Amino acid sequence: MRGKIKTLMLIGAVLASCGGGDLSGLYYLSPEEEESVLFVREEEKLARDVYLSMESLYYLQTQTFTNISLSEQNHMDSVLALIEKYQLEDPVAQTGDTQGVFVNPELQSMYDQLTSCGSMSLENALLVGAYIEELDIIDLTLRLQNTDNPDVRRVFTNLRKGSYNHLVAFAYSYELATGITYTPQILCQEDYDRVIQTYLSGGDLTTLEPLCDYTNVSLNFLCPTW
Ligand code: ZN
Ligand code: ZN
Repeated sequence: MRGKIKTLMLIGAVLASCGGGDLSGLYYLSPEEEESVLFVREEEKLARDVYLSMESLYYLQTQTFTNISLSEQNHMDSVLALIEKYQLEDPVAQTGDTQGVFVNPELQSMYDQLTSCGSMSLENALLVGAYIEELDIIDLTLRLQNTDNPDVRRVFTNLRKGSYNHLVAFAYSYELATGITYTPQILCQEDYDRVIQTYLSGGDLTTLEPLCDYTNVSLNFLCPTW
């Protein structure tokens, strides 16, 4: 018996040392955490699909949508690894991963609204991109506050780091295209400023926590030309 436990512990230790991306630990996922993982899987698909749609319109003017849509595919894949580990039903598989089609009606209506606004001009499209990243930063931060599952925390923290970088890229592209200083749409100005400062100083975006309270703030998108 003792020997068996020792062997199991040894296997656990070996698996635990497999590095940043490994999901080998055995942890529990509450129903709320399951819901969170499934939502974020489609939320990342929303980002990817909107950017693919914008890429088809503006690929001659900017590389930003191409580059970031590839990164969103990686984000989707890392959430899929959680879904597989915890044996959940993948919402993306339910639609055959059809571009622009979502199981969650809220995300479906956001996709329709965001692509419609973004299709009017490159400026709009870049604002749409920055909005999606701000939304993801806020949403992931609120979800991180409600989970202590190490797998979920690692994946969500990594997604949020990606969103910080993407927000900087969209804001920079917007300023380049318009000559206008980018103003955050739903993130508060001081949190946005800290993202830019941390990015420019080469600081660690993994541990950057937004400080404003977003629990009662409207996160709706306002298209500038509506
Ligand atoms: Zn993402
Ligand atoms: Zn992103």
